[in-house]
Amino acid sequence: MPELLIKGGRLLSGTGQARGDVLVSGDSILAVGEGLEAPLGARVLEADGAVVAPGLVDLHAHLRQPGSEVAETIETGSRAAAVGGYTAVVAMPNTEPAIDEVSVARDVLALGRQACCEVSVAGAITIGRKGERLAPLGQLAGLGIHLFTDDGRGVQDASLMRRALEYASDLGVVLAEHCEDESLSAGGQMHEGAWSSRLGIPGQSRLSEEVMLGRDLALVRSVGAPMHFLHLSTAGSLEALRRAKSEGLPVTAEVTPHHLTLTDAEVASYDSVYKVNPPLREASDVEALRQGLADGLVDAVATDHAPHQAETKERPFDEAPFGMLGLETALSVCWTALSDRLSLAELLAAFSTRPARIARLDVASGGRQGGAVAAGQPANLVVFDPEASYEVERARLCSLSRNTPFAGRKLRGRVRHTIYEGEPVVIDGEARR
Ligand SMILES: [Zn+2]
Repeated sequence: MPELLIKGGRLLSGTGQARGDVLVSGDSILAVGEGLEAPLGARVLEADGAVVAPGLVDLHAHLRQPGSEVAETIETGSRAAAVGGYTAVVAMPNTEPAIDEVSVARDVLALGRQACCEVSVAGAITIGRKGERLAPLGQLAGLGIHLFTDDGRGVQDASLMRRALEYASDLGVVLAEHCEDESLSAGGQMHEGAWSSRLGIPGQSRLSEEVMLGRDLALVRSVGAPMHFLHLSTAGSLEALRRAKSEGLPVTAEVTPHHLTLTDAEVASYDSVYKVNPPLREASDVEALRQGLADGLVDAVATDHAPHQAETKERPFDEAPFGMLGLETALSVCWTALSDRLSLAELLAAFSTRPARIARLDVASGGRQGGAVAAGQPANLVVFDPEASYEVERARLCSLSRNTPFAGRKLRGRVRHTIYEGEPVVIDGEARR
């Protein structure tokens, strides 16, 4: 069995960190401790000055395959993920065709087995994500699919969403909502506020997100089934989430690195790299999201990695598609912005342990993600240097697309190595397969 020794890192366990080495054999951790010897023929990776933690888990990645392989594929997207420290991603179903039937889901899962990280799949809630008829959730759940979403769109029809929630509850799966009431967001190209008026760009009000979130919380309260909320972006949404959780509703939520760090003021450049849905909000929303992450209200940071070809992103602002890259920079972007608010262990819990649990990829659910750095655990690990700094270079991205809003920015903290099922897929920041 191939063996690997990760030497001299600080091992993350619970909230503490202890210096130590990690010996990996095959796809599992064989031993942890100080001064472990590398067996003959074992590969040795230096972790000096870095933290060894469970690999990151992204609840929200658009891998674009099938249908938009010019923008990303499962292979390139998973490589981008690995470089960002991820050992698992949940592939969103807004592909062409949508992941709304067993054959498409099987194809994506099969491609995922060749990928640089674990590729889990979210199924669509409705056929073609049209919001009209329910997809065969039961059959899809039979493939082990646990999350269902029409992401890119919210389910507009409340009665259909109620039925979907009842059905999901019977099946023991979880609906994940993209909260956007289209009667309130129609035509909106950016956040509705002072900047949209000044720039003359049609705005999308916070209400669009908050009205659907409110509706869904009422449905959760009535049906008693769990729901996950994707990319919450407003202070009002977090307030509603706080009330729902204190009431004991079975809800979880994610925020994105870009909503934690950027505001609608960026749009003044008219650069469509800043066009994203939900839109970049105001400083007060960013602060509420940071607070929610720091105090544990927010369960997970998820990327909403949304690759687009340069050709389409270079169109005028109002014609360009929504979305930005995220996988390769997420952890560094958040560590740079939040290291004064959260410990690295707290941040990593939102990047790994908690999202692994939400996606049921965690060890307790029979999965292989988000475990402890301890003997007997799966060898899905990230080695992250919290003090290293680097500048994001578009040309060096592993994604097939280039639409990162962080190009040229200097970030603190860098993924050094990523180990997926015992194999070092990223060494010293470089993808190895
Ligand atoms: Zn979305």
